[in-house]
Amino acid sequence: MSLLQNKIALVTGASRGIGRAIALRFAQQGANVAFTYLSSVEKGEALAAELEAFGIKAKGYRSDASDFKQAEELINNVVADFGTIDVLINNAGITKDGLLMRMSEEQWDSVIQVNLKSVFNLTKAVTKPMMKAKSGSIINMTSIVGIRGNAGQANYAASKAGIIGFTKSVALELGSRNIRSNAIAPGFIETEMTGELNEAATEEWKKTIPLKRGGQAEEVADACVFLASDMSKYITGQVLQVDGGMLT
Ligand code: NAP
Repeated sequence: MSLLQNKIALVTGASRGIGRAIALRFAQQGANVAFTYLSSVEKGEALAAELEAFGIKAKGYRSDASDFKQAEELINNVVADFGTIDVLINNAGITKDGLLMRMSEEQWDSVIQVNLKSVFNLTKAVTKPMMKAKSGSIINMTSIVGIRGNAGQANYAASKAGIIGFTKSVALELGSRNIRSNAIAPGFIETEMTGELNEAATEEWKKTIPLKRGGQAEEVADACVFLASDMSKYITGQVLQVDGGMLT
C-alpha cells in the first residue's frame, strides 16, 4: 500500500541530506513532489528525474526559503503547477557554529533567517491553499538541540527551539481548519551537515546513543511519511524525536 498516493508535497532543501531522502521516500510512497534547492543547482536539477522514475510528477525550484517574497512566489508557482499543496516539509537549514563569545552578529542573523524565518515564510504562504482544501499537514525540521541546547550552537539551538514554539502555535491556530502542524527532532543523522564534525568526537558520541549508531536520512524520512500520511490524522502540535534514544 502506498501511504501518500496522489498527495502533493513540497520539501524545502532537497538537494542533499535529509531533504533529498524525504523527496525520494515520498515519491516511493506515491506522492507528487515539489522541492527546492539553493546553491546545489546541479544536484537539485538532477533530483527531478530520479523522482519521476517512481512514476509520479516531480519538479524542482531554485528558491531561497529565508526570503519572504521568494517563498510566497514559490507557493504560488507550486499551486499553479500541481493544483494544491497537501504537505509542506520545512527542512532547509544551516549551521554556523561557534561559542557565544566568538559568535558574530552575521552568524546569529543568518542561522535565524534561514532556519526559523524560512518556516514562517513558507507556512504563512501555504495556509492559503491548505485552508481552501480544508486539510493539510505541515512538518517542521527541528533538532534535539532545540530541546536541550548545545554548547557552540546557541544560534542553531535558538532557531530550532523557535521552530517548536511556532509549530505548536500553528497547530492551535489551524486545527479547526483540519491543518496539522508537527515537528521532527532528529538527533545525530549522518549527512554533510554532521560530516563536518570531528570524527573522533562523533565516534565517542555514538557510544552514548542507546541504539549505538548515528541515524540515516531515510530514517528521518520515514517519520515524515508517517506525519504526512493519514496514519497520523489525529496527531498535531507534537515533536517527534528521531534520535536513537539520544535524548530520553
Ligand atoms: P544538509 O545536508 O546540509 O542539507 C541542507 C539542505 O538545505 C540543502 O539541500 C540546502 O540546499 C538547503 N538549504 C540551505 N539553505 C537554504 C535556503 N536558504 N533556501 C533553500 N534551501 C536551503 O543538512 P541535513 O543534515 O540534511 O539537514 C536537514 C535539516 O535537518 C536541517 O534543518 C537541519 O537543521 C536538520 N537536522 C539535521 C540533523 C543532522 O544530524 N544532520 C540533526 C537535527 C536536525 P543547497 O545545498 O541547494 O543550498
